[in-house]
Amino acid sequence: MKALFTSGDKKAELLEVSDPIPASGEILVKPILAGICGTDLEIIAGDGDPAFVKYPSSLGHEWVGEVIGVGAGVTSPAIGSRIVVTGIIPCQNCFECENGDTNRCLTYDEIGFTRPGAAADLITVPAWLAHEVKSSVTNETAVLAEPTAVVTQAFIKAKPKPGAKVLIIGDGTIALIAATMAKTYSAKVVHMLGLKSGQEEIAAGAGVDFFLTSATSDKYDLIIEAAGATSRIEAAVRQLVRGGTLVLLGYPGFGKSAAILIDDVINNDLNIIGSFGSSLSAWKKCVELMNSGALDLTNLVTHKFALADFEAALDALKNAPAPRGKVALVVEG
Ligand SMILES: [Zn+2]
Ligand SMILES: [Zn+2]
Repeated sequence: MKALFTSGDKKAELLEVSDPIPASGEILVKPILAGICGTDLEIIAGDGDPAFVKYPSSLGHEWVGEVIGVGAGVTSPAIGSRIVVTGIIPCQNCFECENGDTNRCLTYDEIGFTRPGAAADLITVPAWLAHEVKSSVTNETAVLAEPTAVVTQAFIKAKPKPGAKVLIIGDGTIALIAATMAKTYSAKVVHMLGLKSGQEEIAAGAGVDFFLTSATSDKYDLIIEAAGATSRIEAAVRQLVRGGTLVLLGYPGFGKSAAILIDDVINNDLNIIGSFGSSLSAWKKCVELMNSGALDLTNLVTHKFALADFEAALDALKNAPAPRGKVALVVEG
């Protein structure tokens, strides 16, 4: 089979490797779509955090696939099921796993980072981490399960109150998913501070009420920084109502810092929270929202390329003009 690899030497290549065989408790899956994102670009550039990437790296951490084989002892999901899979594989033994915080498992192991990814003709994964998606869920919504689980994790932590006024900084896929997610939490109004003009329409489709291209002095109950723009963080803290919450989701790169006025944080009783990856419970909630129809993200996939055309896909991810949502690879054959 073919699989997309990188050694972190600024290029990716499609390599011929032997077909994986499902071990006991595993399933063999044929990926249908595999999304690519800025994290993949960092891995290809060799900028991935060494604690979280193993080279040579087999790419593809955002994906949906169909079960085509099962290893010993697997009773579900059945062959033919369409599934998404929890990306961070919990060890099930450490105190983090025991408390349900599997995103912080002491033994970090993640599909597309430390174990083979789904930008490939085939992949094997633990059966117990697979989540079936209903036939009503499009492949385009399902391929966004991983970034959506990341957003779900952040929302579980942020606990937005119904009627909240929400600002999302950034207009990439995570930001757009966060807008849709905010609406499922009954946000009263969602503003997006965008970077690219031409992104307004896709943002409106994702639930954004007002697309801003420059900062205002409005106050918000919840601000989600999804651009990795450290320069916006100081201002964001000043834009929170008392008791408000700032969630840092956009990764600015290794070793970056931002100035914060501590007076405001204390006197305004603010919550500033980070969020890493996604736990098994966030995945369950995310797939529930997709299966219930509350989260239809179909229109967020704006660019599709065959796996063999991965170079064009990576180029689109870097350079395609707005409107741009998720860039996905179509695994054929
Ligand atoms: Zn990603
Ligand atoms: Zn663990």
